[in-house]
Amino acid sequence: MLNLVLFGPPGAGKGTQSEKLIAAYQLVHLSTGDLLRSQIAAGTELGIRAKALMDQGMLVPDEVVIGMIESKLQENQTAAGFIFDGFPRTIAQAEALDSLLSQYNTQITVMVALVVDEEELTNRLLLRGQTSGRPDDQNEELIRRRVKEYNEKTMPVAGYYEMQGKYKPVNGIGEIEQIFETICQKIEEAEATLGEK
Ligand code: AMP
Repeated sequence: MLNLVLFGPPGAGKGTQSEKLIAAYQLVHLSTGDLLRSQIAAGTELGIRAKALMDQGMLVPDEVVIGMIESKLQENQTAAGFIFDGFPRTIAQAEALDSLLSQYNTQITVMVALVVDEEELTNRLLLRGQTSGRPDDQNEELIRRRVKEYNEKTMPVAGYYEMQGKYKPVNGIGEIEQIFETICQKIEEAEATLGEK
């Protein structure tokens, strides 16, 4: 089973690379941002509460996203593997994910981190905001707050996987295809390492 955490700040290219990885490895895509946006669209209680935080560029509570991931893992027990996109974003989420996966006798294979500097991120997000319809991509101050949340709360998650020997940084600036090939290389190396264990 291939369980990939695709890591990186907002605008690093996680969505774009996810699409290519899903097609290449037949993975189930679990994006907590997408799951939250569909709750908002459906007008659920959870969606209403999450929206208030998302509109301020802040993270929603751990138990909310962990609960969503837990039910998706349960619904997809025959999957070839998962791509976790935008999750885990805190150490508590990373710990919960490890414990959920161990219940299914599996584990994270590798965390691939897309590395992009803040100026490039802001430019990409403002550009995406012109077409995505996402309110959190249309305001520079809000974008900077999301990047700040990422630096403060989410960056430590990289260290969590580094301690497990699973953290693989990849330069997220360049040709989409080239970046994709580098990610595939990292995945294959990680699978080989786990296979040897
Ligand atoms: P994204 O689509 O991944 O950029 O997420 C959009 C927004 O949803 C974030 O700015 C957060 O407010 C919220 N969100 C998504 N995933 C998580 C998560 N794993 N933990 C907490 N908040 C999240």
